[in-house]
Amino acid sequence: MAVVEVRCPDCDSLNVVKYGKQPNGVQRFVCQNPPCKRRTFLLNYQVKPNPPATRQQIIDLALSGADVHETARLLSLPQDIVLEVFQQLSRFSLPTGNPQARQSRRSRALAG
Ligand SMILES: [Zn+2]
Repeated sequence: MAVVEVRCPDCDSLNVVKYGKQPNGVQRFVCQNPPCKRRTFLLNYQVKPNPPATRQQIIDLALSGADVHETARLLSLPQDIVLEVFQQLSRFSLPTGNPQARQSRRSRALAG
């Protein structure tokens, strides 16, 4: 029988016990090291966060005009990860249109 050593990802303590399962059946653990702020954790997370370098590569390709499919192919990433970054970018996109026209409309609105 293989024994897997489970350590808390925050404090690296071995003072860890099983703590039920996720709805998808993945074993959950709890850290019992008193000073540790981390309570429950999973041994292997299903979705790993994007490293900043990958995120920057996605942004660079998006700014150069690549679409989700092309970006995913070029970076060998799943399309849903690329799409998530694109959606985050779209929340911060600047309004389109002529900034002077907007300014003049605003001036007229203030004057009138
Ligand atoms: Zn801990």
